[in-house]
Amino acid sequence: MRILYVEDEKFLAQAIAQALKRRNYAVDLEYDGLAGLDMALLDIYDIVILDIMLPNLSGIEILREMRKEGVETPVILLTAKSGVEDKVEGLDCGADDYLSKPFQVEELLARLRALGRRKGQLVNGSVLVFADIELNYNTLELRGNGKTFHLTLKESQLLELLINNKYTVISTNTIIEKLWGWDSEAEDSHVQVHVAFLRKKLKLLSDKVKIKTTYGVGYVLQDSDDV
Ligand code: CA
Repeated sequence: MRILYVEDEKFLAQAIAQALKRRNYAVDLEYDGLAGLDMALLDIYDIVILDIMLPNLSGIEILREMRKEGVETPVILLTAKSGVEDKVEGLDCGADDYLSKPFQVEELLARLRALGRRKGQLVNGSVLVFADIELNYNTLELRGNGKTFHLTLKESQLLELLINNKYTVISTNTIIEKLWGWDSEAEDSHVQVHVAFLRKKLKLLSDKVKIKTTYGVGYVLQDSDDV
């Protein structure tokens, strides 16, 4: 899961980002409202966390612009104190959840899991199921056929992306943006290598699950029973 976190308190932002990364979330940080809006409008994130008081553009203004531009990414607003008006305004603008500062990391993690669940994909906290395989993206374990393999973080993120978009072709560019970030130097060949490793592991764990290549476009996850 890739998260955008817009927060001008750098120390807090970095501490939270570290905690999320330890849980295998990919996190991009922005400290400024306008820069945060640019990133949010890329529409490559699974969840956006917005502080409300930000330089240049508030979290609520970012949220309003996102919704106006048709970006439906779930948003968690971080409100100062017990700013009831902020909460109401935020929810009216299309926020999915809010958290009052100061908050515990565990509280934020619970909200992230809940938002993930609302997308209808999560079973059992951090386990994704597709056909006869199970991916635990916290422990990076992939199970099937009574066997378990440990994936690399990138392999796990790639499989998570494919499961969440099953039967839909994901472009190589989208994979690069989600796994390495939009400004990365990663190339198509990086994706090919990770797909190749993942295919090898899938072959040993499942007779059904296949990553199919659509040449010139990208990749799609299929259950051979369904095609
Ligand atoms: Ca702030």
